[in-house]
Amino acid sequence: MSNIDTTGMSEGKKAALELTESSREGYLDYPTFAGALFMGELPMDLISPFPEAASDRDQRGREFLKKLEAFLKEHADPDQIDRDGEIPDEVIDGLAALGAFGIKIPREYGGLGLSQQIYSRAAVLIGSYCGNISALLSAHQSIGVPQPLILFGTEEQKSRFLPRVAGGEISAFALTEASVGSDPARMATTAEPTEDGKHFILNGEKLWCTNGTRAGLLVVMAKTPSKVVKGKKRHQVTAFVVDTHTPGIEVTHRCRFMGLRALYNAVIRFKDVKVPVENIIGAEGGGLRVALTTLNTGRITLPAMCIGLSKRTLETAKEWANEREQWGAPIGRHGAIADKIARIASTTFAIESMTYLTSALVDRKKTDIRVEAAMSKMFGTEAAWNIVDQGMQILGGRGYETAKSLQARGDKPYVIERALRDARINRIFEGSTEIMQLFIAREALDPHLRVAGKVMDTRVPMSKRLRAAMGAGWFYLKWYPKQWLPAFPKTRGMDPELSGHVRYAARTTKKLARKLFHQMLKYGPKLEREQMLLARFVDIGTELFAQTASATRAQALIDQGRDRAEVLALVDHFCAESRLRIEAAFRGVTKNNDRMGYRLAQDFLKGGSEWLLDGMVDTTRQRQPAEPVRTEPVLELEKVSG
Ligand SMILES: Cc1cc2nc3c(=O)[nH]c(=O)nc-3n(C[C@H](O)[C@H](O)[C@H](O)COP(=O)(O)OP(=O)(O)OC[C@H]3O[C@@H](n4cnc5c(N)ncnc54)[C@H](O)[C@@H]3O)c2cc1C
Repeated sequence: MSNIDTTGMSEGKKAALELTESSREGYLDYPTFAGALFMGELPMDLISPFPEAASDRDQRGREFLKKLEAFLKEHADPDQIDRDGEIPDEVIDGLAALGAFGIKIPREYGGLGLSQQIYSRAAVLIGSYCGNISALLSAHQSIGVPQPLILFGTEEQKSRFLPRVAGGEISAFALTEASVGSDPARMATTAEPTEDGKHFILNGEKLWCTNGTRAGLLVVMAKTPSKVVKGKKRHQVTAFVVDTHTPGIEVTHRCRFMGLRALYNAVIRFKDVKVPVENIIGAEGGGLRVALTTLNTGRITLPAMCIGLSKRTLETAKEWANEREQWGAPIGRHGAIADKIARIASTTFAIESMTYLTSALVDRKKTDIRVEAAMSKMFGTEAAWNIVDQGMQILGGRGYETAKSLQARGDKPYVIERALRDARINRIFEGSTEIMQLFIAREALDPHLRVAGKVMDTRVPMSKRLRAAMGAGWFYLKWYPKQWLPAFPKTRGMDPELSGHVRYAARTTKKLARKLFHQMLKYGPKLEREQMLLARFVDIGTELFAQTASATRAQALIDQGRDRAEVLALVDHFCAESRLRIEAAFRGVTKNNDRMGYRLAQDFLKGGSEWLLDGMVDTTRQRQPAEPVRTEPVLELEKVSG
């Protein structure tokens, strides 16, 4: 049974919660750095010294990155890809020949067998150049067939499928449906077992499946018959590898977006598709665990791509701020522009530190990286969107003009307009910012739920709750006073300036733990409903992770001979800004407009203040769902897959 009391919740919420909670069960109990912050701990041994970059010692990895860069420069034109909405076949074939479709797939299955760190570096490289190629490769190997099979596949499945995908057969991940966005409990795609027990019959429709129009293999999530577990009916979601050449699969629409215009994104219909039982990934009913575990590491690719985007923005902003003179000086000398450049530079350093640290922890395999990955994804994608937006501001009108138009009138073809369009989706897919906040909050509260969850759980008999209350009382009697004691984090061998940042983080984790505990006492189990309040705690924890990751990486860079003053300038600026955000978040815990805003929103949603919408052209009719209009021929997978 989960530690969360679901009594009194709506059926929909209960189903969503029980399904996601069941997928947490059995998760390996490794230590967590970022999760510990919420309990007032700063386990520096887990992240310091900053893990040596694999790219520095991995000769094969370095060579691959070099070849990848040379290939991209020579063969891929990102602006052309954006304009055409297509990635040329030669580019896809060339990337496959380089091994870019199987970077982490072990060599015995035809992949390059490189580390997560090299994979992240490749994502930085490609992210700095072409969002469409990034999305193609990332959907294929971060969430498509390779990652879940590496994690959960049987030997037979690995030998059957991994060589295909490592060689360039494109794969995709199909979870989302029209009613399933962030809530998999609403899944309508079904997989019913055949009478002989040898197959499942798949029926349903998947939405927004990236790579779906070109994929040869899909990971499909489907509802299998419910099971009774410990006397309770439990929804089952199962993950299948599905060969798109199987009869009954049809791509009914290629979706087009604001950015990532060459995304091969599909609506896929499954009609009586016969899938062998041997194609189940993990256990029957374990699909959500497969999906969530895959995403735990898979989502690190997004902040890595965001590092690339941020670096490109920084380079462009630097060039323009030096070159462009207005009001008697280069614009970079004006305070408002200099401030933006400083923020872009120091935040890029922080995203890089968080993402490289998390990638190294994945390679080490001794840490539970779920919270670190979620924080890197949330912070990195939010920050990169801001960075590109600020980059556009620095470039002024040229930032808003397309590269082609700039070039046509003899100007430099800056890429900020495309970068901004491409960057926006990162805050939505692979766990939206709001869902990452809920996920991190759940993990932040987990130690408390383990200790005190039963006390407040009305489903548990009173005798057990009383016993649990005594245990919890004893725990908090020891734990709580510790949160007021001074902190002495391990900073031996660290530059005094950097140890100052670590000491601040250690002090602040205690304050974070105390304040969170106070809110638990105030709200009890209802704290879970206080999304805005919890989001502040999540943001504080994330800032502290960003600060400590930046400080330990800065130390590693100084040790490697980088200019101390330059490195410190970046970290000091980031930490100073981050402290201001933390202070504001702490203030917001006790003084905020959350209730007022919630009431206003609910009133408005129920029809209040309708007059605010007066004065617009009435588009009510246009906004109604219409009969599908096919603007392009329906694609059939047989025709387009390779
Ligand atoms: C370009 C693109 C590519 C994609 N690629 C894939 C793919 O390859 N495979 C795949 O399976 N899916 C894919 N998706 C789907 C993507 O993962 C979903 O869009 C995402 O999960 C969010 O679902 P939704 O859009 O239905 O939003 P919803 O879940 O409807 O959410 C709408 C808004 O409400 C917020 N929200 C939802 N629940 C809560 C809550 N409990 N508390 C607070 N806020 C909440 C969300 O954060 C969001 O802001 C893709 C989508 C796009 C646009």
